[in-house]
Amino acid sequence: SSVLEIKNLQVSVETDQGTKQILRGVDLTIKQGEIHAVMGPNGSGKSTLAYTIAGHPKYIVDGGEILLDGEDVLEMSVDERARAGLFLAMQYPVEIPGVTNTNFLRTAKTAIDGEAPAIRHWVKDVRTAMDNLKMDKSFAERNVNEGFSGGEKKRNEILQLELLKPKFAVLDETDSGLDVDALKIVSEGVNRAHETNELGLLLITHYTRILRYIKPDFVHVFVEGKVADQGGPELADRLEEEGYDRYLTTAV
Ligand code: ADP
Ligand code: MG
Ligand code: MG
Repeated sequence: SSVLEIKNLQVSVETDQGTKQILRGVDLTIKQGEIHAVMGPNGSGKSTLAYTIAGHPKYIVDGGEILLDGEDVLEMSVDERARAGLFLAMQYPVEIPGVTNTNFLRTAKTAIDGEAPAIRHWVKDVRTAMDNLKMDKSFAERNVNEGFSGGEKKRNEILQLELLKPKFAVLDETDSGLDVDALKIVSEGVNRAHETNELGLLLITHYTRILRYIKPDFVHVFVEGKVADQGGPELADRLEEEGYDRYLTTAV
């Protein structure tokens, strides 16, 4: 089984005011089949971690490593990262005009596996996954994310996750904008991927709400671009009660 290692990761962005350092030495190791929650106050660098793993060009790696089974992820193109087994759902999934959902999924699946999926199994798999996520059939033939509501985009993201069967997924604020019913459906999809495909998960969330449905094995608390605390699921319960105040040491 595989392992994703983040070692002493330091990341900055260029802004109009100059270079802004965001991640200040992040260490995180995720084994396949494990669920890690990354929590923390707004602006602590959670999304920056997701974007950096995804290879977003805006985020400059100043030091440290990201390794997938010892392979240097930072040297990989975005496509190579996907082929290596990383799934990187971003906070704002992109619309792809002119490309239907089915064609997109099939193309992505083919690129990742290195061969086209057998058509009969594939059609059945897509149908089953869409049924599980309570997605209307019409979504198959609609352009990717075009005119989808926030909740529909999230479901579509999980549809991709279930069909592409990555080794590791990074989900950033997947719960934002979802009502309870949609949150349940989306969480069940994530749990299915976890149980069926031994998915390793980096679940980024400000709120503990989604952790009622997706149970983390480990919880990491981000503060000012660093892991300030880590523990088991009980840490999430504590954060639910106490918030992040005790990590924000303000000098008086
Ligand atoms: P979180 O997801 O924990 O809320 P982010 O990673 O989005 O935090 O942001 C961390 C800090 O870095 C914030 O202060 C944010 O304003 C800043 N930041 C993130 N991305 C950019 C960017 N592209 N340009 C300028 N500042 C950024
Ligand atoms: Mg588990
Ligand atoms: Mg964020």
